[in-house]
Amino acid sequence: MNTQLPKASFTQLLIAANRIDPNDFQHWVFREEMRFGATGKWWGDFGQRDFPHEGIDFCLYADSDGRIFRLGDQTRIPVMHDGVVKAVFKDYLGKAVIIEHVSGQDPTDRLLSAYAHTVPVEGIQPGTEVKSGDIIATIADTRTSKAKILPHLHYSIGLPAPDLDYGNFVWNVMRDPDLITLCDPEQIIDWPHKVIHIDLDADLEIRMGIGF
Ligand SMILES: [Zn+2]
Repeated sequence: MNTQLPKASFTQLLIAANRIDPNDFQHWVFREEMRFGATGKWWGDFGQRDFPHEGIDFCLYADSDGRIFRLGDQTRIPVMHDGVVKAVFKDYLGKAVIIEHVSGQDPTDRLLSAYAHTVPVEGIQPGTEVKSGDIIATIADTRTSKAKILPHLHYSIGLPAPDLDYGNFVWNVMRDPDLITLCDPEQIIDWPHKVIHIDLDADLEIRMGIGF
């Protein structure tokens, strides 16, 4: 399914929010398992996921020399589109922020996005209005979690059912096609990406999310 959301200037906003040099960010890097609908894990035993991936994982990028970096925890996360926060809940690796957006000409056309495995900034709670570029959270440090997974932003986007109850939002809601029709977020990301089978045991360097 295609969303009617414009391409988000997410990467551009992210670079500005974290004050790195735009020349140091050439393209996103995904392992196949980080992409939408992936069935494999990119952590732990690298086995199968219990459910196909509900979104994409922003974790890695390359600079103009092709060197690969990872996002540090504390990376500041700008929201891609104007909207209203509908739910904030614990997602095992941090917290997830659910935001609803008007998606087209008709105000009843709505889309929902999820920014997960984060530490929301103060004031981000149901009812908070957000504007594109607002910092809503930082990436949670997940290295000591049970999964021992590298810090990353999980991003999902989808079409909510008209009767979706945001009051009881948990991760499984995103897995229920009767409640949300998920879309592939790659179509709205502004920057190019490459899919590389990178070894995650390597000591990947961090330039983003190391404080100011
Ligand atoms: Zn994910």
